[in-house]
This record gives sequence, structure tokens and C-alpha cells, in this order.
Amino acid sequence: MNAPGAPVEIRYSVCPHDCPSTCALEVERLDARTIGRVYGAEDNSYTAGVICAKVARYAERAHHPDRLTQPLRRRGPKGSGTFEPLSWDAALDATAEALLRAEQRHGAESVWPYYYAGTMGLVMRDGINRLRHAKKYSGQYSTICVTSAWNGFIAGTGRLAGADPREMAKADCVVIWGTNPVHTQVNVMTHAVRARKERGAKIVHVDVYRNATTAQADLAIILRPGTDGAFACAVMHVLFRDGLADRDYLARYTDAPGELEAHLRTRTPQWASRITGVPVAEIEAFARLVGSTPKTYFRLGYGFSRVRNGPVNMHAALSIAAVTGAWQHEGGGAFHNNGAIYHWDRSLIEGLDALDRSVRVLDQSRIGPVLTGDRDALKGGPPVDALFIQNTNPMMVAPDHNLVKRGFAREDLFVCVHEQFLTETAQMADIVLPATMFLEHDDLYQGGGHQHIMLGPKVVEPPEGCRSNHELICALAKRLGAAHPGFDMSPRELIDWTLLHSGWRGVADLERERWFDVQPAFEDAHYLKGFAWPDGKFRFKPDWAAVKPHDFGPQGATLPVLPDHYDVIEEANDAMPFRLATSPARGFLNSTFTETPTSAALEKRPTALVHPADAARLGIGDGARVRLGNDRGTTVVHAKLFDGLRQGVVVVEGIWPNAAFEEGVGINVLTGADPIGPVGGAAFHDSRIWVRAA
Ligand code: SF4
Repeated sequence: MNAPGAPVEIRYSVCPHDCPSTCALEVERLDARTIGRVYGAEDNSYTAGVICAKVARYAERAHHPDRLTQPLRRRGPKGSGTFEPLSWDAALDATAEALLRAEQRHGAESVWPYYYAGTMGLVMRDGINRLRHAKKYSGQYSTICVTSAWNGFIAGTGRLAGADPREMAKADCVVIWGTNPVHTQVNVMTHAVRARKERGAKIVHVDVYRNATTAQADLAIILRPGTDGAFACAVMHVLFRDGLADRDYLARYTDAPGELEAHLRTRTPQWASRITGVPVAEIEAFARLVGSTPKTYFRLGYGFSRVRNGPVNMHAALSIAAVTGAWQHEGGGAFHNNGAIYHWDRSLIEGLDALDRSVRVLDQSRIGPVLTGDRDALKGGPPVDALFIQNTNPMMVAPDHNLVKRGFAREDLFVCVHEQFLTETAQMADIVLPATMFLEHDDLYQGGGHQHIMLGPKVVEPPEGCRSNHELICALAKRLGAAHPGFDMSPRELIDWTLLHSGWRGVADLERERWFDVQPAFEDAHYLKGFAWPDGKFRFKPDWAAVKPHDFGPQGATLPVLPDHYDVIEEANDAMPFRLATSPARGFLNSTFTETPTSAALEKRPTALVHPADAARLGIGDGARVRLGNDRGTTVVHAKLFDGLRQGVVVVEGIWPNAAFEEGVGINVLTGADPIGPVGGAAFHDSRIWVRAA
């Protein structure tokens, strides 16, 4: 403990959570095991001293009395939540035996290591793949978050990278599209608001409901979920019609401007208004603003891609910046994610040298169909008989919850979950192992929403009994007879090797400097030497076959050739007349932070935002209990009357635990696990439902 009156010791770290901001942190270290307040690093040019409230009070999570600190073995029936403690050695032996048993029965592909982004650290998140590849266990196609958005962006630019996000502060107009950064990546607002303060820039928000980000915007476009492509097409129609398209830029930098212009002639604001619900005057006003403001920065988010036409919508929105030529200007262009600028050599962390491409790859979002024996989801291969899970909580976050639950309830399925809390997924496990948090181990991070490589060094000792993901993977590998040099290295050695083999300086320099700013040169970030396709052109006509990493979801023939409204969404019908979006809550981050009392208190209870006109028709009052349902299931929430969305649209914020709902069934009972075409992904904001008074 610091001596009374002594300055509090500050250590540096990085936020590990599934958020593009990847904030540089300053952490009060009170003693060898205790942290105090957490702050954003002032001198990191993207974080700029600002972090979200849920991470500022991280001590509440790190020192939570419910943290897991000892291995547990299931005692009662599956899901009963009854466990007995056992030693780490016994737990590792039991896990290894179960994985080997599954392998003997149906082959190595019957084991499915399953993970996601509970931590974004490269070593602790991705090391599970080293074990997977060394053992030839089933692969994971990670579709639950980014696939739809990333591939939609790459379809246009050829590369997952864009204009420096700090340039937002130099824009005259910032379009924040399909994301609610006040809830999900607060630093976008830092730079957008700076542009308004310093340059009088306009902030525009495009979303499916008015929220905390809309409250800071000068212009709001509120559309029906899954109709962004129609809106984007009408905007481009106006740009061509009114002479606001940059024809010189189009001729030099794009593939088919003439075909696009001809195609858009019928995509009028009137046409789009019928699809989107956005009044014609608002479409015209938006088009005039972005068409007459060369320095318009399009900050394209993830939310609007989580619909069945998501990649097509992302590509359509991105196409606007190519029509106006915004890319040419500092403060203009588009950005979604900077994944491509880091060019990591992941071979040691992920064991890519051991990857056998003949091993089947299963779609992460289809865990429900996979566990319940759907032959298509299993790729015609053996059943999954053993799951080894790190960094994710599919019982809460995966779509089509009833199927997921049925799968986890299988008596012949072995499940090991390595976790920080007894999550709803851990409650379904046979073996639960306690995991460290980010301040208790070393890791390497990249800023998805910016341009920094960052080191998160260990700051405090973990609670007695917790082990890091890396420690667990290495210990299991020994018991399973899996060999790879990465299993004998420390996290720091892995980080150093990865940095050096990726063309960066090593871990000692990174530790001294805290981060490397690896922003590409202006002309590269703005594609002034050409886009990243062989002909250097932005593609209005995507070659989806060149984009998609795997064959998942509807393919080929039905995809629009040019930007369009791709009419494959789960459109409302007479029986299910509402469209549901499950947007992120401010206090939670996916299922993380649902365990901290402050976040739960802020979010209050699962709530459906219902338009007052719809509520009146249904006889539903403010605060009434309502049942939401569709072909997949039903759940009960409380209604809140809210006129900040289109009639016929319902929004339920947050991934609340199933247990927080009256009947123990959460919102993902309503979402579907059918893949988004043509790249895969889960359509979390694209469910038709009915609404009734409960
Ligand atoms: S804004 Fe995102 S990256 Fe920054 S502290 Fe919050 S969750 Fe972490």
C-alpha cells in the first residue's frame, strides 16, 4: 500500500475489451494486488485522456467478490450451477482426459476450441488457435462481430484501412453511421466534437434510433434497420443529379462510375423514403451537405452491418465518399477499421505453421446449429463432443438462444470454460477454470479504431488461483501431447518475436515508449496512389468471391452488382409486424460488465423502446410488461414509449443475462443464426417480431 500522503503509483496499460477505441490507460496501483481509479492517457493522441465510465471504475470488476478463484467441477445436472472445487492439476487432468476421449471417439474435429474477444490481447485471445492447429481440432470462422462489416468495406477499397481517425478533428462534416460511439467507442466523439468546436463542423448521425450520440449531432437520419443501402443509393442519386459528384475523381479512381450513375437513376429519394422511412427532404438535405462539404469524414460503424444485407449496406455507404471524392482531402474520406496496417506475423502466437487447411472450419455464430447436430453447420463432419471455451459467453451473446441452450444441455457434450466469473456459459460447463484479467498478465494490442501498437504489461498480481489464457493453453498442450515452440515461451517472448517478425521494433522499445504510432502516410491512408485492388480502382462493382474468406451464407446470383437495397432482410409481415434491433447499452460491453453493480443499476432492466403510435395501437402503456416473440421464441420485457425510432421498429438495448429476464430467457431467443450473405455473420439487428401486452 502507498504510504499515507505519498503520490499514488501510476502504471500504464491498455483497455483489452472488445471496443475499437483500445484506449491507452493509466492505472492507479495501490499495492501488489490492488488497483484504484483508471484514467485515459492524455498523451496518446487518439485516447486523448478520455475513457468510458465502465472502465474508469474497473476496480469494481477486478476486485469483485464473485470473481472465480478456484477450479470447479460440475456436481449436479447440466446447468444446475452446482459445482465442487478441485485442484488445478485435477482440473487440467480431467479436461485433457475429456478432450482425448472425444478425439478417440469421433476424431480430432469433434473438439471445438471456441473463443472470441473477451480480451483483445493478441497473446491471450489468439493463443487458443495454437492448440487448435497443433491438435487439428475443428477451426473457428469468427463471424459474430466483424465479418459482415469488414468484408463490405474491403469490397470497395480492397483493404481494411482508411483515413486517419484523428483527421475527424480536421473535418467540416463528420458522418457517424451505424454506430453509437457514446455507448461503444467514446473516443470517436472526442475527435468529432473537436472538429465542431474548432472548425464549426457539422456532426451527422445515421442510426436506427435516437440515442446518446444523436443527442450530440446537428443532423440525425433515423432509418429502419437494414435499409442503409437504400438510403446510400438515394444520396448518390442526388449527388449525380445535382452535379455534386466529383467526375474527375470518379474517372481516375473508380471502376464503373457510368454504370453506377445509370443504375442510380431509379434509386430516387422517393424510392428510398418508402424503404427507409426517412422523409425525402432529409435525404436531400444529407446529400446536399456531404456533396457540398469536401472535407466530409465518414466514420462507418459495425451496427448497420449486423443485418442480412450488412456487407452490401457497408459497401453502399462507403461508396458515397468515392462519389464525392472526399478521400482527396485531409479531414475527408472514410474509416471503419485499421486491421490491415499492422501486418502481423501470427505464426507463433496462433501456430499457423501447424495449420492444416483440410480440417473443417465451423461458423462461430452457428454454435446453436453446430451443437444440436445440424449437418450443414457441421460441414458433414462428426458431431462436436467437446468444447473448450475462452473469452466469450455464447449462452448470452450467440444468436438463436433456444438452440444454443439445447446444445449446451447435451449430456454427451463435455464443456470446459476458462472465465473470470461464473457466467451463464460457465454455469453449463463440466469444468470451470479461473482466469486472470488484463492487468494481471502481459499482452500486445492493436487499435482497431486507430493506429497504435500498444503494450499492456502486467500491473498487479492476480488473485490466488487465477491463471492466464496462455498458462492454461501451455499446460493443456503438455497433457494433450501437442507440440509447438510457442508452448514453451513466455508472453513477452511471444510479443517480442511477433513484433520483430512483423517488421516493428521489439518489446523493450515498446515498453519504453508505451505505444508505436504506425499511421500510414497520408497518400496511402487516402488511397491517393490507387485503391488496393490490382487496377487501383475503388470498386462500385464488388467481386465478392475475392473478398469472402469462406463459403458461408447466401452466395452469388442474388447479390446486387452495384450498391443497392439488397432485399433479403427479415422484413416485417402481418404475423410479425415489427423489426427488432438489439443495440448496445452504455453500461455493458457485450456480456462484460453485466456483473458489476454500477452498470446493472445504470441500465435498470431489460427494456423495449416502442413508438408511442405503435403502443397506442397495441394498448401498451409506458412501463407495461410486453411479450416479444417470433418463430424462434418469446421473452418478456418492460416497454418504454419512445418516439426516436420509426414506427414498426423496436429496440432492446444491451446483452442482459438471460437470468435478468422475467422468464429466464434473454433477447437472443429472437435473433437468428442463419448466416449473412455472402460472408457469414449474425444478423443481430434484423429480426421480425410481434409485440403483445404480457
Ligand atoms: S472506450 Fe472502449 S477501449 Fe476505451 S476504455 Fe472504454 S471500453 Fe475500453
